Amino acid sequence: MAGSSKGNFRELISPFLREKISKLTTRYGENDLRTKAIINQYVKSPLEDIIHPSERLRHYESEINIDFDGAPLIGVERLYRRTVLIEPTTACAAHCRWCLRGQYPIKTMQYDDIERAARYIGSSNLRDDVNEVLITGGDPLLSTSHLNHTLAMLTKHADNVKIIRMGTRVPFQDPYRINDNMLAIFNRYRHFRFELGLNINHPIEFWPECILAIKKLKEIGMVFYNQHPLLKNVNDDFKTLVELYDYLRQHGIEAHYLFHAIPMRGMGHHRTSLHKGLSLISEISACGEFSGRSKPRFAVLSDIGKIVLYHGTILDVRVKERLVLLKSYFKLEDRLKWNPSWKQPSSVMIDSDGTLLTWYLDGSDDRLNDQTTLYQDVNLHLDVELEHDGSPKEKSNFDL
Ligand code: SF4
Repeated sequence: MAGSSKGNFRELISPFLREKISKLTTRYGENDLRTKAIINQYVKSPLEDIIHPSERLRHYESEINIDFDGAPLIGVERLYRRTVLIEPTTACAAHCRWCLRGQYPIKTMQYDDIERAARYIGSSNLRDDVNEVLITGGDPLLSTSHLNHTLAMLTKHADNVKIIRMGTRVPFQDPYRINDNMLAIFNRYRHFRFELGLNINHPIEFWPECILAIKKLKEIGMVFYNQHPLLKNVNDDFKTLVELYDYLRQHGIEAHYLFHAIPMRGMGHHRTSLHKGLSLISEISACGEFSGRSKPRFAVLSDIGKIVLYHGTILDVRVKERLVLLKSYFKLEDRLKWNPSWKQPSSVMIDSDGTLLTWYLDGSDDRLNDQTTLYQDVNLHLDVELEHDGSPKEKSNFDL
C-alpha cells in the first residue's frame, strides 16, 4: 500500500514481480544490472535507515480540506486549473521504494466520499475550469469496484469532465489484473477519453505479459504515457534510457516526464544530483539514437508542483545545504482560487509578480564536486535581495 500510518513503508512485492526477480537472478545473477533494476525498485534496503534531516514524510501538499454539502471533502487534491485528483484507494500491487505517497497516511474513500467528490467536481464553482480528473492513489486499477464507482459518480454528477487519467503500475506489476472484468468497466464509460499514466523505469520491464496487457487496453482505445523517476542504479545511464524510450515508442507509449527523484525520507540512495539528470536529458535530447517523438521533459516535483528545468529555472543555490531555488510561473492567486485550503509551504517565496519560487533539496551522486558546475550559469534575477551566501535578505521562513 502506498501509505503508512507510522512512517514504516513496508516491503510489498507482487507474486508476478517476485517470479521475475527470481528468473532474472537465475538467468543473469543477482549483481547483473537488469536484475538490480528490479530489486532496487522493490526490495527494501538497509540504506533506507540513513535519513537526511531535510528529507520528508510528505512531499507537496495539495489536498482540498473543506466541507462540501455538509461533510468534509475526502481524497481530493488540486494544484492546477483544469485537473482535479481523486484517490479512491491507497492500495498498490507492489511498493516502489521511492514513492511520493509511500509514507502518506493510509486513507480509503468510502462510496459516499467518492460521490461527494464527484458532486464537488461538477459543482458550479468548478465546472467552467475543470475538465479532467486524475484518478490515483495508490493504484486505481487495484480495486475494480472503486474504479467503477468513481467513473459512475463522475458520469452522474460531473459532465464537465471529459478526460480521465489514471496513474497506474498494475500493467507492469500484476498484468493479469487487466482482465475482461476491467476491460468491461472501461468499455462501459467510453464517453470519457481515458489515458493511463504508466511508470516504467527500465526496458527489462517489458515482459510479454505486460506487453499483452498494454495491447488489450490499447484495443479498447486507451492512450498511454510514461512518467518515471531517474533512479540511481536503475536507469541513471544514457544507454538504459535510450533503450527505455525506444521501447516506449515501439509500444505506443508517450515519453512524458523524466522526474528527478524526490527527497522522501530514507530514499536518498535512489537520488542522483540534478546535474546528472540535466546532463542525461541534454544528451538524450540532442542524440539521434531514437525518435524525437519519444523524448521526455526533465522535471522536478517541487513543493508547488511540477517544474520543467529550462535555462534560467534555477535561480540560486546553497551548495552546502544542497538546496536550489526554482523559478515557477504558478501564481499564488490562482493556487488559492483553485484550492482554497492551500497553504504556502515554508520553502516557498513569492516573487514581485505574484509567481511562486521554491527551494528544493538536490540529491547527490558520486561526483559531488559536480554540484558546483551545475550552478555556474545560474542567472540571478530575483526580486528579493540576497545575502552574500545566497540566502534571502528578508528573513525566509524556509524550514525544510
Ligand atoms: S509509485 Fe504508484 S504503484 Fe508504486 S507505490 Fe507509489 S502509488 Fe503505488
